[in-house]
Amino acid sequence: MKVYKIAVLPGDGIGPEVMNEALKVLKTLSDMDSTFDYEITEFNWNTDYYMEHGLMMPENGLKQLKSFDSILFGAAGDSRVSEHIPIWELIMPIRKNFQQYINFRPIKLLRGLETPLQQKEDIDFVIIRENAEGEYSTSGGKMYQGESRELAVQNTIMTREGISKVATYAFQYARDHKLRKVTNATKSNAIIHTMTLWDSVVEEVANDFKEISYEKYYVDAIAALFVERPKDLQLVLASNLFGDILSDLGSAIAGGLGVAPSANINPNGEYPSMFEPVHGSAPDIAGKGIANPVAQIWSLALMLQNFGRSDLHDKVLFSIEDVLEEKRTLTPDIGGKATTEQVGDAIVRKLQKRM
Ligand code: NAD
Ligand code: MN
Repeated sequence: MKVYKIAVLPGDGIGPEVMNEALKVLKTLSDMDSTFDYEITEFNWNTDYYMEHGLMMPENGLKQLKSFDSILFGAAGDSRVSEHIPIWELIMPIRKNFQQYINFRPIKLLRGLETPLQQKEDIDFVIIRENAEGEYSTSGGKMYQGESRELAVQNTIMTREGISKVATYAFQYARDHKLRKVTNATKSNAIIHTMTLWDSVVEEVANDFKEISYEKYYVDAIAALFVERPKDLQLVLASNLFGDILSDLGSAIAGGLGVAPSANINPNGEYPSMFEPVHGSAPDIAGKGIANPVAQIWSLALMLQNFGRSDLHDKVLFSIEDVLEEKRTLTPDIGGKATTEQVGDAIVRKLQKRM
């Protein structure tokens, strides 16, 4: 039987608090299912580590991570270092070097949760965001600093191969999950070089999937659609920047940051994929024991799905919903009084019943 090797990076602030609960869920699964086993290795690569070593991870950090089946990440960042350090020294190197070119975010209003939208309708779609190139590049520069003619240039880099890979993943996902439609988030009317390439490659891929309908919307119009008619959406395909912004909007209509999961996927499995909540280290509530562990536990479920264990993914997600629907054990961000640990324990108890 395969023993999944999982690298655990709890990070800073509430990261370790919510990670504890996810690891309880993981242990419950392997205790109760004789066909599932795992082994974890924990890495303390966080701001404390940075204060001591001047680096977010050791020089050979990526090499250490490479042999794992998967990476489970908490959140990184604290006021002792500037915000770009954990992003550009830890998270981005992992995403880019391990070719995690898919960022996958379910926008699903779980049973028991409330949306702030007026129409109380089903919200259940996914965002597939390009995660390795596009608007987030280090190409560009600044001139004439401090002068009145100061200028800055930031380049967006899009490649046929990069666009084709994310679009193909999106259409294959749609086909595998019996979705009827893919919605392309674009802005080719105003961004005439990169976004027109994006559209034409996405359309080429769409032509290979005739059974799935394809529509193109400007990203600003999609933002409105998220609020006005979210049930019309099934899969939104977006570039790095557009997908980033749309996914925060998506989490806001579906219960908030405390429950929003994400996956950074290397589809061919050559490198480990990484699973992490959308939220950060939440310094305002760190140490109080009241962080919502649902986002981290749902991220763990996405990892199980990526292992090919949709059965375990579903059991974890249903157990989360059982707890949310009961409304007795909720953290303050979603209107309750429970602690992080109480919510984790409640999910574990529901899971034990479902196994
Ligand atoms: P944040 O997501 O940490 O917090 C935003 C707000 O949401 C806060 O009020 C926080 O209390 C609340 N919140 C977040 N997660 C919650 C949870 N699980 N339960 C209950 N409430 C929750 O974003 P921020 O405050 O902008 O950033 C804080 C730090 O985290 C910064 O250092 C930032 O750079 C870092 N950050 C890291 C990541 C990451 O590791 N991927 C992502 C975003 C921000
Ligand atoms: Mn973001």
